[in-house]
Amino acid sequence: MDNKDLANIIFPNAKEISYYEEKYPERNLKEGAIVTRFAPSPTGFVHIGGLYQSLVAKKMANQTEGVFFVRIEDTDQKREVENGVKEILDSLDDYGLSPDETIGLDGKDKGNYGPYLQSARKEIYESYAKYLIEKGMAYPCFCTQEELETIRENQTKAKERTGYYGKWTKCRNMPIDMAIDKIKNGVPYIIRLKSPGNPDKKIKHKDAIKGNIEFPENDQDVIIIKSDGLPTYHFAHAVDDHLMRTNLVIRSDEWVASVPLHLQLFYCLGFKAPKYAHIAPIMKEDNGNKRKLSKRKDPEAAVSYYKEEGIPKEAVEEYLMNIANSNFEGWRKGNKDKNIDEFKFELNKMGVSGALFDMTKLLDVSKGVISRYTGKQILDYVLEWSKNYDKELHELLTKDLEYSLKIFNIERGKEKPRKDISKWSDVKNNIIYMFDEEFNKIKEYEYQKITDSQEIKKIVSEYVSNYFDINDDKETWFNKMKDLAEKLGYAREVKEYKANPENYKGHVGDISTVIRVTLTKRANTPDLYEIIQVLGKETVEKRLK
Ligand code: GLU
Repeated sequence: MDNKDLANIIFPNAKEISYYEEKYPERNLKEGAIVTRFAPSPTGFVHIGGLYQSLVAKKMANQTEGVFFVRIEDTDQKREVENGVKEILDSLDDYGLSPDETIGLDGKDKGNYGPYLQSARKEIYESYAKYLIEKGMAYPCFCTQEELETIRENQTKAKERTGYYGKWTKCRNMPIDMAIDKIKNGVPYIIRLKSPGNPDKKIKHKDAIKGNIEFPENDQDVIIIKSDGLPTYHFAHAVDDHLMRTNLVIRSDEWVASVPLHLQLFYCLGFKAPKYAHIAPIMKEDNGNKRKLSKRKDPEAAVSYYKEEGIPKEAVEEYLMNIANSNFEGWRKGNKDKNIDEFKFELNKMGVSGALFDMTKLLDVSKGVISRYTGKQILDYVLEWSKNYDKELHELLTKDLEYSLKIFNIERGKEKPRKDISKWSDVKNNIIYMFDEEFNKIKEYEYQKITDSQEIKKIVSEYVSNYFDINDDKETWFNKMKDLAEKLGYAREVKEYKANPENYKGHVGDISTVIRVTLTKRANTPDLYEIIQVLGKETVEKRLK
């Protein structure tokens, strides 16, 4: 009996690997085209870090006319949840990161290098595992949990590295006949790699982000096929990324320490290894310390959070690009109106240690993004968002769409558009005073400088009786405000007041604030003239009176 017999007994029906090598030929792409992927597990939680990785991957593929695909890694079936795949694909779609190839929501593959769902690739892994066994590079291991535990204890006692390697590999040199007998007798087993590595030697590797790294060679006989017949991550990574013809693996840097093992697997399988780009995780500042954004502690770790809050996807994308590439911010400053796709992304400009996630900065970016939208775009986005997340607002806005549009058009389409909305969930509070019923409900508000109620009454009644005319153009309107100021003993101009404050009760700004607060119950609003125009004569007079 030899390795071939052993392989045949374990995988009697597996196809020759040549079948798959032919089925998935080299891709016919232009020189330098990057084939890369996002390979999430369908756990039901889409982490912002996954979006970040996909953004980078899609960008690299697009700008080289390559391919970006999604492979669903569902070999750890304990962690899988219903709808896990849908959530991943929907999130990518939401952010304009739809892959060129993937498993679809209908369960059908889109692309010629599938299946894109690992659990549907069982036969493929079997062929390659069989191939390794035939070549004497993999073997069945019959060690029980207890035996492995004992090995571990002995290693700890002897102060040696833990794991299944070197002299500790009980099953590595088991005579083939004995192994075959055990299999025939139904003794459970898994398949391990017979590692050819020598940990006294180093392997050098050039990561596209982290640069040169050196590691000892792998000598662990890692598991490649588990007891449930499915592959481990390591083995599936080598087989899949080879057959899917990935040439750049972009993934989280928690895998960087596995590079020696992965390169070894590629070597044993006779594959050309891909390049790697290991992305540092997104970090958060927590009481002066930096830590990873945590699924458990930080709501903003979930991609769904941004949707719920109503942060536009362009803003999230723009912000992620900001933290991904140090030169993006400069590019954006010089190219305010350009599409983000025109920015040339460079992997070697990514930070080696984790980028810090800063919500304030994101909201600031978002304010900028929203300020560039038209009133109509904003109305549409807010309607879409409020439909799911704020029914009350949705009703308020849909009652009179024309009026709602006017509200969002205030101070827009100008050189300096208003910049007071950072997310759709801000909108309600931002515009609520434009609706009579809601305006009447606002009980708490403050007049600023002028607080004497007699004085306020005088200003307001004087204004409404003698100065207010809805048909005034902006200049006339403002001049009348100045006239009113002068009449009541306030300076027409702020600078006049500043030059001789003792001559005046205040200045025109104090007067207009009284009108503003009376009309909106807010001290800070967008342009008061425009607000008055949108509210209309009747409402303005009613509120003033
Ligand atoms: N399923 C692995 C993970 O979610 C994929 C890593 C990779 O991109 O290779 O961490």
